[in-house]
Amino acid sequence: MDEGQGHAAGPTVGEKNIVGRRKMRTEVSKFALIQATSVGDAIAKLSSYGVDNSAVISGGTDVISRNKERIATMMPQYLIDISGLPLNYITPSSGGFKIGATTPVIDVANNTSVPAVLSQAANAVATPQIQSMGTVAGDVLQEVWCEYVRNDFPCWRNGGNVCYGAIGDNRYYHSIFGGRLCYANHAGDLAPALTALNATATIQSQTGTSTVSMEDLIPGINVISGRVKENIVAWNEILTEFQIPAPASGSVSAFYKVRDRGTWDFALASASVVLNVSGSTISSARVVLGGVDVKPHIATSAQSYLAGKSVPLSEADIAGAAAAAVDGAQPLTTGTGNSYRVTIASGAVSKALRSIYTPNQPTVYAPLSS
Ligand SMILES: Cc1cc2nc3c(=O)[nH]c(=O)nc-3n(C[C@H](O)[C@H](O)[C@H](O)COP(=O)(O)OP(=O)(O)OC[C@H]3O[C@@H](n4cnc5c(N)ncnc54)[C@H](O)[C@@H]3O)c2cc1C
Ligand code: SF4
Repeated sequence: MDEGQGHAAGPTVGEKNIVGRRKMRTEVSKFALIQATSVGDAIAKLSSYGVDNSAVISGGTDVISRNKERIATMMPQYLIDISGLPLNYITPSSGGFKIGATTPVIDVANNTSVPAVLSQAANAVATPQIQSMGTVAGDVLQEVWCEYVRNDFPCWRNGGNVCYGAIGDNRYYHSIFGGRLCYANHAGDLAPALTALNATATIQSQTGTSTVSMEDLIPGINVISGRVKENIVAWNEILTEFQIPAPASGSVSAFYKVRDRGTWDFALASASVVLNVSGSTISSARVVLGGVDVKPHIATSAQSYLAGKSVPLSEADIAGAAAAAVDGAQPLTTGTGNSYRVTIASGAVSKALRSIYTPNQPTVYAPLSS
């Protein structure tokens, strides 16, 4: 047993904060890196090594971070590498796009043909270095960044039966729309944008291939293969591709993210908006919040509010949509509480809506410079 596996036996919670932190980001625990020769080969290898011993690695920015963080239940011995498979592409398709799972986030950020909401969301991910290593599917399927699980606390996600986030420090990484078991936000910036675009995802399993909506890909907290998680992809399945349908004519879109720091940081809240405009009237709208719920949060009241409004939107209509976007918010009141992010989420929606008709607006707001 190597040092990392030994840590899995687990010191007390108090020790973890100190011991775990000290070891963090210094050394990678041993694992075998196995190149998959095809999607089927990856599935076969994952299935044979088992849920506790194996996982997919693509860019590795999340998987290797978790290994370094010594998270007891997230340090598989066998990493099946899919980065060499032919899943790296952005291809026009039936008026929309197909994006392969291993496409680097930076290729989406630099693509001037995909809808603005998606390239702006990709640009808001971390740093150019992480965008270069991180892949589109990896961003959508990344583990949550709740500080408790990332410091190996024995919570629901990490084999325990308590949620420290719900009762402790929940200022940054936890849902303002309620939850069950695990209250950690879905962290990725791309998933809300893909949801706003009505994208679908193709998943290959041992028994075949299925294509699901983003809502069905990330439905919220469930137990999948014995793991508490928000997406439906089992450990021995491969997400191969996203499909973005052709936009309705007159469709415009934008993304806006609020984060704490000027350098990389996850969203305190983000807004992805798509307006389908006929003449000067909004026929339908998609408004999806990121970083505030255990899944991309579809703001249905804001969508209904916007339908039928004239563009460019008046400030009153922007304010109305922004208020409707946080209908049903249930910020945590235990622990530190996180109600301040309701206001931030609402503000992100107004910024995104305003930016559609005001060119050259920033797409990220970060109050701190470092
Ligand atoms: C310092 C830092 C800052 C960050 N900031 C942001 C940010 O601001 N916004 C944001 O959105 N993200 C952020 N991230 C997350 C980052 O974008 C993701 O780590 C990255 O996109 C994951 O892609 P990857 O290819 O490296 O995934 P990996 O680490 O290889 O995998 C991530 C997860 O997805 C699974 N997986 C990957 N691909 C597939 C597939 N095709 N099929 C099935 N399972 C798969 C893996 O098993 C693993 O569980 C940050 C990460 C770091 C380390
Ligand atoms: S929010 Fe989720 S990851 Fe965080 S402590 Fe609770 S169960 Fe664990």
